Amino acid sequence: MSTLRILSGMRPTGKLHLGHYTGALENWVYLQNLLADDGSKVYETCFLIADYHILSTSLDTSEAYRNSMEMLLDWLAAGIDPQKSPVFRQSQVKEHAELFLLFSMLITSARLERNPTLKEQVRDLNMESLTYGHLGYPVLQAADILLYKGNVVPVGEDQIPHVEITREIARKFNFHFPHPTIGDVFPEPEPKITKFSRLVGLDGKAKMSKSLGNTVLLSDTPEEVFSKVRNAVTDTLKLRRNDPGRPEVCTVFSYHKRFTAQEELAMIEADCLSGALGCVDCKKRCAASISAELEPLLEKRRYYEKRMGLVEEILLDGERKAKELASHTMQEVRTAMRLG
Ligand code: SF4
Repeated sequence: MSTLRILSGMRPTGKLHLGHYTGALENWVYLQNLLADDGSKVYETCFLIADYHILSTSLDTSEAYRNSMEMLLDWLAAGIDPQKSPVFRQSQVKEHAELFLLFSMLITSARLERNPTLKEQVRDLNMESLTYGHLGYPVLQAADILLYKGNVVPVGEDQIPHVEITREIARKFNFHFPHPTIGDVFPEPEPKITKFSRLVGLDGKAKMSKSLGNTVLLSDTPEEVFSKVRNAVTDTLKLRRNDPGRPEVCTVFSYHKRFTAQEELAMIEADCLSGALGCVDCKKRCAASISAELEPLLEKRRYYEKRMGLVEEILLDGERKAKELASHTMQEVRTAMRLG
């Protein structure tokens, strides 16, 4: 395989917010469209709606389909092109479950218990005990990636331990089960460290998260964006319009840094520091910058919302392509393992 393949995914939690956009989605679109000097694609990209992964923290799947479609609308609106990148649901490609089962024999529970991300989740979600499936979710992730022979995994620094588990599983499989003709069935995927731009929530205290109610959605209209940004936390010491502010501690300014053009940003910073700019005006300008970036996404989303039949076809087509790749890999796996 000459082109490197990337498999990335998200849990379907419904409509996406700005944090999803700056933290992953815009990078996915960039990688999807990246061309080499000779005009060929640098990466083959596949995007997974990780609906099985919902079950690791909740048994309520009643909204799984609706949430998957809402998320897919946001992916398409942001520029995921189904002609270039198949999009598909994990639950519709049964090979994910099959490979997960086989991989779960290649790693010890002690190794999974040492996973630092798991410890963080247990703490953040106040969990008293883990299900067997939750402990094993890095194994399911390994199956997600290796089923499509992903060679590159775009990650932030904190996700490197997961890629390491995927690499260990690939190595162990290749060592124990060499394929009679191709040798190694799986590549050892390389983490591609990406500087994600993480956005704090409107409350200024944590990252954007739907459960915390501190988000701006990609599908929010300019009026909705303004009404949310209007309530964002600013510099608590700037009490009156003409008080000098501290942009470095202000949530709104952190959004300006990402969404406002450089020249205007410098003016906003200077006027905040001198007290010439009031927070209400500043928030209006911030909301306008965010909405300007979201405008083409909104337009594209409306196009697809009126054509849900087309969106369903896109999903079915992606699932057909994913099944072909997955079935081919599983044939190699069964041959290497002398099963069946
Ligand atoms: S003027 Fe703008 S940057 Fe300064 S504290 Fe107010 S909202 Fe924040």
